[in-house]
Amino acid sequence: MEKPIFPMEYIRITQGYNEGTHMGSYAIDNAGKDTSISDVKAPFTGVIKKIYQNDANEVWLESKEIVEYPDGTKDYMTIMFAHDNDVNDLFVGKVIKQNDTFYHEGTKGNATGNHCHFECGKGKFTDNGWHKNNSGYWSINNGKKPEDCLWLNDKNIIIDTHGYKFKKISTETVEIKPVVTDNKKNEKIFIAPKTDLYGVYLKEKQELVIKSTK
Ligand SMILES: [Zn+2]
Repeated sequence: MEKPIFPMEYIRITQGYNEGTHMGSYAIDNAGKDTSISDVKAPFTGVIKKIYQNDANEVWLESKEIVEYPDGTKDYMTIMFAHDNDVNDLFVGKVIKQNDTFYHEGTKGNATGNHCHFECGKGKFTDNGWHKNNSGYWSINNGKKPEDCLWLNDKNIIIDTHGYKFKKISTETVEIKPVVTDNKKNEKIFIAPKTDLYGVYLKEKQELVIKSTK
């Protein structure tokens, strides 16, 4: 199951959610490394559901499969991007693989300076994909905080997260060592060094016993 990854290498959030033109939404503006145009990558393997060229070249990408949210939930995810200057290479139904560059920063739709505006929504694409919120701004349906949707990986470079705490995908491998061995059952007990998500590689017919001693 894929973990949705922050869609730009450099994290430099210049406008947070519920601020200014993001009032009443969970949209953020990310301005990448500098003032030039940075790439935007697919956070998950998804399919383009809508392209709206009359405003800021908004593009909606819906995950092909259920993804794993950093808050522990599992569901489809839809994300809307804005401000790419040219989306003529995209079409509804196009499948984009996780981590592939398919969008760019830009200024389309009255943006001051190159950046990408994006907003995550929980679940599949619904209705028109967005709605006018109570503050009068167009907001994705079922919007959710970016730090509750997107993970960081080893390649992300943080300049400014705007105070948001993103969860990092851990890539370290920990060998399960027999800390306590019960001779009758031959149990090997792994004691988690910290609170995190752990992946376990199992061989056929191996039994996994999860127990908490606290
Ligand atoms: Zn914005």
